[in-house]
Amino acid sequence: MVHHIQYNMEEKPLIMDVHLDLSMNAMEWNRDLRWSIDEIRASEQGMTDKPDRGRGTVSFGALREGNVGIVVGTQIARYSKKSNEMPGASWNSPEQAWAQTQGQQAWYEVMEFDGRITQITNGKELENHLQAWEKDPIETPIGLIRSLEGADSIISFDHLQKACKDGLRAIGPAHYGPGIYAQGTDATGGIGRKGRELLREMERLNIILDATHLCDDSFWDALDYFNGSVWASHNNCRALVPHNRQFSDQQIKAIIDRGAVIGVALDAWMLTEEWIRGESTPESENVTFEDVVDHIDHICQLAGDALHVGIGSDLDGAFGTEQCPKDLNTIADLQKIPEILQERGYDDEDIENICSQNWIQFLKNAWDV
Ligand SMILES: [Zn+2]
Repeated sequence: MVHHIQYNMEEKPLIMDVHLDLSMNAMEWNRDLRWSIDEIRASEQGMTDKPDRGRGTVSFGALREGNVGIVVGTQIARYSKKSNEMPGASWNSPEQAWAQTQGQQAWYEVMEFDGRITQITNGKELENHLQAWEKDPIETPIGLIRSLEGADSIISFDHLQKACKDGLRAIGPAHYGPGIYAQGTDATGGIGRKGRELLREMERLNIILDATHLCDDSFWDALDYFNGSVWASHNNCRALVPHNRQFSDQQIKAIIDRGAVIGVALDAWMLTEEWIRGESTPESENVTFEDVVDHIDHICQLAGDALHVGIGSDLDGAFGTEQCPKDLNTIADLQKIPEILQERGYDDEDIENICSQNWIQFLKNAWDV
C-alpha cells in the first residue's frame, strides 16, 4: 500500500530553515525583526556600514508568510588574533566573543518573552510545537532551536555546559579562518587536542556537530573522532560550484552515511560558478531558485533518495537581496522551492521531506524520541 501523505500543493508546506543568524541581525545590524521587511529596509536608507543595508529579507512576519514554522537560530562570535576580512564579527578575545553570544541569547529569550518565538530543546517540545503550529500557524510562536556557529567563544567546558543547560543544541566548531577548536573555511589543518576534547564533551552532552565551515582536514578529523549526530546546516555542492566552503561528493556521501541532513544555502556565490564578489549581481548571473534546486537535486542523486537534504538558507547572513536568487524578495519566497521540486518530478512525500520532515526526523533520532 502506498503511504499517503496529506499534502496539498495549494497549501504552503511547512518549511524548517536550519540556518538563520537572527540574533546577529538584531544585535549587530540593529534590526528589530518584529518590524515588517519594508520598515526594516526603510530604516536603513542611506546607511553604508554593511553591504546589505536596506536589502534585508528576514522578519518574523516574512517567516510566517512563508510558513517557516521552525528555524535554527545561531549565536555567532569569532575570536581572531589579527583583524581580518572574513565575514562575521571577530573579537580580540574569546571572553569578548562569549559575552557577545550571551547578548545574542538574551535577545532570543526576550523574543520568547514577547511571544514571537518558542525555544525547542527536546523531542517533547518539538512534538508539541509541530502540533500547535498545525492547528494555529497564525498565533503560535515560531519554533527556535539554538546553534553556535564557530566555537571560539567556548572559554571552558563549564561555559559549554552552561550553554547546553540554556538550550544550545548544535555547534559548528569553526567558522571562517583558523579557530581554537578547528580550522574553518579558507584555512587548513586538523582539529588538534582541543578540538578532540570539545567533540568528546559535545558527544557527552548530546550536542549535534554541524560540519559546515570545517575545512577539509578538520572535517575528516571531526568525523573520525565524533560519534554523535552530525548535520551540515548550510552547505552546497563543490561539484556544481568549486570552492573549499562547499562539500565534495565524497564529503556529502560520508556524512549521509552518518545519517546527516544537509541544508542548502541561498548565498548567490555558493549557487553559481560565475559569481564574482562585489561585481556580479543576481540579474547579471541570472541566479534563481532553479540553481538552489540544482544543489538539492545533486545531494538527492548522491544519496539515492530525498531523505538527506533540507533548507539552511543563511538569509541575512551578512548579505541581502544583492547576493540572493533574483526571484527572492523575502524569506517567504522559500515557498518557490516546493513548486520547482514538483516541476522536476519530486512527489509530495519527497517535497514534504525536503521542506521540513528530514530535519524533524533527524532531530527525533538525535534526541531519541
Ligand atoms: Zn555560515
